[in-house]
Amino acid sequence: MQLYNLKDHSEVVSFAQAVKQGLGKQQGLFFPSVIPHFSTSEIEALLSLNFVDRSTEILSALIGNEIEKSDLHARIKTAFTFPAPVKHVSDDIATLELFHGPTLAFKDFGGRFMAQMLQHIAGDEKITILTATSGDTGAAVAHAFYKIPNIKVVILYPKGKISPLQEKLFCTLGENIHTIAIESDFDACQALVKHAFDDVELKKAIGLNSANSINISRLLAQICYYFEAFAQLSETERSELVISVPSGNFGDLTAGLLAKALGLPIKRFIAATNENDTVPRYLETRKWEPNKTVATISNAMDVSSPNNWPRVEEIFRTQGWDLNELGSGKVTDQVTAETMKALDALGYVSEPHAAVAYRLLRDQLQPGEFGLFLGTAHPAKFIESVESILDKKIDLPEALAKRASLELLSHKMQDDFSELRAFLMSVAGQ
Ligand SMILES: *Cc1c(COP(=O)(O)O)cnc(C)c1O
Repeated sequence: MQLYNLKDHSEVVSFAQAVKQGLGKQQGLFFPSVIPHFSTSEIEALLSLNFVDRSTEILSALIGNEIEKSDLHARIKTAFTFPAPVKHVSDDIATLELFHGPTLAFKDFGGRFMAQMLQHIAGDEKITILTATSGDTGAAVAHAFYKIPNIKVVILYPKGKISPLQEKLFCTLGENIHTIAIESDFDACQALVKHAFDDVELKKAIGLNSANSINISRLLAQICYYFEAFAQLSETERSELVISVPSGNFGDLTAGLLAKALGLPIKRFIAATNENDTVPRYLETRKWEPNKTVATISNAMDVSSPNNWPRVEEIFRTQGWDLNELGSGKVTDQVTAETMKALDALGYVSEPHAAVAYRLLRDQLQPGEFGLFLGTAHPAKFIESVESILDKKIDLPEALAKRASLELLSHKMQDDFSELRAFLMSVAGQ
């Protein structure tokens, strides 16, 4: 597999390099030089396979001979250990539940596949992953890399500024996962990470890697569940399928568009945002004007400069598609809450992110079409807002309930780079 840098098309790398490097020169994103296209009969054959076998065929067509198919199959089998079921909420609308993994959000798919790829590519080389989190991504990274040999993980988060349940989810693992509560805010955590990556000597000494959300391996993993959704739908439902994607950094939408480019016959997509609506406004006016990020109840989508957007545009450009065909819209917190109640009345308990996607799908679905919205997180992950909006108690899934009773293993640290540097050196040396 070859990929080029969207900021400088002359920088071309292999899949292995793209996974290890994350970003190219000038912070450019990597994009596949060739996107294979499955014929209708090949798609039919793929849909008849099980999730792991089908994902192996899809990813092997993309990655090519850089990874043996049998190795890839074993890696995918280790990463995709939980299902992605489609559940109907009405006659013409269903949801794809992507939250049955260890951290109850779709990020488990990308995170776990990335961990497998990084381990495969690094071989005996030692790697230290350093990342800052305000909650969600940290949990997915921690669980994805838990007990993977030769890889150490250090996660920084702002002390007292993430939900107690969230903290329990990733700060109780131990082994190769080290978490540090920084006496400051999220921006300070990010600045510490950046400082570490600018420290060339440190970077080399400990094999520093960011494993962040723009890594191409995450997107490849996410393509697979669009096929999985399709496989679970009836012939009629498949024939005019519209998919609504709750979007923050637009990784999920990028993966969906890649699935379509590979030949999966999806009629159209809806890019659904909360009040951080840079993309819906851009699609309307063709002016890129990010506002200051505002806090909403769908907080994993509180992003005003979505970092995967250049990939979305590149897919439309290279496939010769018209950006006017991408549906979009924004949903306020108030409407999100009303929509969660409406879904509850239909017998489906949802959470704010999925509700944003459902709302726009409901509003924009045409007669004859079938709608699917992505269920990106388990309602228990946003238990405070879900319980107060729906005015009822919801159960914690067993995995989360078990974690909630464990002791926190986090270290505490001031916002001090020299202290962090010493910590990183000692962890890498273990
Ligand atoms: C990360 C996240 C999103 C946004 O996904 P992107 O790929 O960044 O657009 C939506 N919902 C939940 C629950 C998330 O964790």
